[in-house]
Amino acid sequence: MMRGPTALAALFLAVVAKETFERHQVLRIIPKDDVQLSLIKELEDMIHFELDFWRELSGVNTPVDVRVPFHSLQSVKIYLETQGIEYSVMIEDLQMMLDEEQKEMMSAAHAPKPRNTDSFDYANYHTISEIYSFQDMLVAENPNLVSKTVIGQSFEGRPLNVLKFSTGGTNRPAIWIDTGIHSREWVTQASGTWFAKKIVTDHRRDPSLTAILDNMDIFLETVTNPDGYSYTHSTNRLWRKTRKPNPGSRCVGVDPNRNWDAGFGGPGASNDPCSQIYRGPRAESESEVKSIVDFVKSHGNIKAFISIHSYSQLLLYPYGYTRTPVRDRPELDRLARKATTDLASLYGTRYTFGSIINTIYQASGGSIDWAYNQGIKFSYTFELRDTGRFGFMLPANQIIPTAQETWLALMTIMDYTLKNPY
Ligand SMILES: [Zn+2]
Repeated sequence: MMRGPTALAALFLAVVAKETFERHQVLRIIPKDDVQLSLIKELEDMIHFELDFWRELSGVNTPVDVRVPFHSLQSVKIYLETQGIEYSVMIEDLQMMLDEEQKEMMSAAHAPKPRNTDSFDYANYHTISEIYSFQDMLVAENPNLVSKTVIGQSFEGRPLNVLKFSTGGTNRPAIWIDTGIHSREWVTQASGTWFAKKIVTDHRRDPSLTAILDNMDIFLETVTNPDGYSYTHSTNRLWRKTRKPNPGSRCVGVDPNRNWDAGFGGPGASNDPCSQIYRGPRAESESEVKSIVDFVKSHGNIKAFISIHSYSQLLLYPYGYTRTPVRDRPELDRLARKATTDLASLYGTRYTFGSIINTIYQASGGSIDWAYNQGIKFSYTFELRDTGRFGFMLPANQIIPTAQETWLALMTIMDYTLKNPY
């Protein structure tokens, strides 16, 4: 009669193994002037508060979103109120929101395993093994269009899968798209999965896509940080970085979007292994980054490089590490305007666009700055929905609408890349 207690014990273990965020709040802070800006900067440096910046400090009147653990909540609020800094509570109790998300995933998990990509549940979040088996099914169903390339291994030994969509030719000009380099940005991996299906569905139905695939290949890496993604499911839903230990530090992981060889080590990245924006010991120290670098260099014919993040509803082009505008700025700006207009045409979702440094903040070691410096003109970063109501915990019922509207912008960029060879 041990069944009851054993099941209970297993449940207990499953519960305690996961990091919880009870009574953590996400505050939106709005700095009114430079003095407040530097006061918030000081807050960021008070490491005992263990703050997690969801939207980094940017500039005057630009909101900063920060997760505040319960043990720091009172002190942080008093600090802000004493200095007269305006803030609001975006998320009242983070754990309640996480429980809601978990509940939805659990009820979706009762559905029978999909036998093909038609019965795959695109409107829910999935584990890495579910996404990887989706990829294998898609390849098996479309052998003349889709293949899978393993471009490397993550630190923990997971394959770095890239889907290749190609109708033939050798080393055609190509589009690179990655999602999920920051593992907690779940709507991005989910959108990437939807894009993969969309490409096979539309490739003989949408003449624009047909033309693109008649002339170019598309490479899509949907789980770009698989160790991090796996960890967001098993242990800490809000994990952002890689999972490589840092010698001499208790903190794990590197920010894989501060690890590229473009202004590496400059402002807008941290040298503290405990920081969420830790750049790593050297450029390309993370195999998740180095594998893409090697792949892009050896391919040699990538014409657009699109890296997809969440959240904030932005479409950004280089640079992030320097104020020097890129040579193609007017063209990249025009194309961004068109892409965001097309995106908004579906559900009215409003995006802001511009260079990284002028639109959000200085960030060094980012992927699209590197790509642009490699000669890939059409280098863009998306920050998908929303603007902070749910942040990284975007409800699953927004996955498909988000992917659909983003697809319109991607088509605009790919179509333009096809029609403007360089
Ligand atoms: Zn990100």
